[in-house]
Amino acid sequence: MHITHFIWQKLLGLAPGEIQSGDTLWLLSPRQHMPLLTQRRALMLVNRCRLFAILFSALTPAWAVIDLLTLPYPLSLQLAALRLLVSAAFVALAVWQPMDGRLPAAYRGIALLFAIPTLFYIASHLMLRRYHLEGLSAAIGAGYAFLPFVLLAGLAIFPLTLLESLAFASPALLGFVLTSLLDLNGDNLPGFGGEFWLLSLLAGVSAIASVSQLAFIIVLVHQAIRDPLTGVFSRRSGEEMLGLLELQAQRSRQPLSLAFIDLDHFKAINDHYGHLAGDQVLRHFAELMEGRLRRSDVLVRWGGEEFVLLMPGAQLAHAAQVIARLRAQGLGERPEGLPLTASIGVAELFQDSCADWRALVDLADTRMYRAKQAGRNQVVISD
Ligand code: GH3
Ligand code: MG
Ligand code: MG
Repeated sequence: MHITHFIWQKLLGLAPGEIQSGDTLWLLSPRQHMPLLTQRRALMLVNRCRLFAILFSALTPAWAVIDLLTLPYPLSLQLAALRLLVSAAFVALAVWQPMDGRLPAAYRGIALLFAIPTLFYIASHLMLRRYHLEGLSAAIGAGYAFLPFVLLAGLAIFPLTLLESLAFASPALLGFVLTSLLDLNGDNLPGFGGEFWLLSLLAGVSAIASVSQLAFIIVLVHQAIRDPLTGVFSRRSGEEMLGLLELQAQRSRQPLSLAFIDLDHFKAINDHYGHLAGDQVLRHFAELMEGRLRRSDVLVRWGGEEFVLLMPGAQLAHAAQVIARLRAQGLGERPEGLPLTASIGVAELFQDSCADWRALVDLADTRMYRAKQAGRNQVVISD
């Protein structure tokens, strides 16, 4: 873990702000990415995929003119027809890309973006190998062999994790190996080895480019969505996240619990010990909570000394257990040495029949208020 972190730090030395040690794994696989990052990245991937599809749909048929002028008939015509087909496939890809901010759609798009030219490469190779080309036509024919190199270089424009990058590179590499196997013999083996090595290097360089793009996005998203004082999610990103989590909960019928946490007698801390002391208590509280939560739980600073804790996948009873555990471990200390306490309201999307996430927050807020009225330092989980 230390070694990989060290390597990332060196590789990403230019990143504005540090990539945090907990985020290092995010560069390897997308499994633990938070929903906000996934959504933004998915949109970005789809956009770039479309851009490339449009570019290729125009460039691919354009080259047919050169083929028709230089290659023998009927090869030139076959290749031109193939190019038109490929161009149509790229247009279809550009048009039918869903912009729903979900990763599977983005994966499908990139896979197709790479599958189309790989198939084109294999088909054109099969056509070309039936001819013995010489002179100019041999040079033009040889140009087709560069396609896998273009593909692997193109991978660099996508912000990807290392695993994703390797997964997308392997079909192009495989396509190259398979077509080369068709006419491999003792004479061209060294040439094949050299080309394969070059392709692998190119895939490696593209992977580094993809991963550093991802690192930049992680750092920037991190800065944009956090509250500067406590480092937990800001109200704005919290609301965005709630929207996403609600959608996810509705789709999967998985529970979504929410706790509204309001620190008790907080104004007194400011009044007696100053605003800076108050800030310090807030920071310490957030730090304590973040250290104890699951990675899927989300802590949001909703207002001054009010926090909202989102617990996707947790039923009301489970959420109540989590809150009980957090309170038992303590929420921190007030400057005078007394334990910091909070009044907390908990609600769950389905069990409490909330129409949407706003209703969920309102209900938890109402319950928090009842906890205040009942004497503070307690939890209310029902009406
Ligand atoms: P209650 O138990 O009823 O919740 O009492 P309270 O004093 O916590 O509630 P109230 O809403 O009256 O006061 C909240 C205080 O939190 C007021 C404000 O000065 C303070 N506060 C809000 N944001 C910050 C902040 O960023 N830093 C500091 N130091 N204080 C803050
Ligand atoms: Mg308050
Ligand atoms: Mg308060």
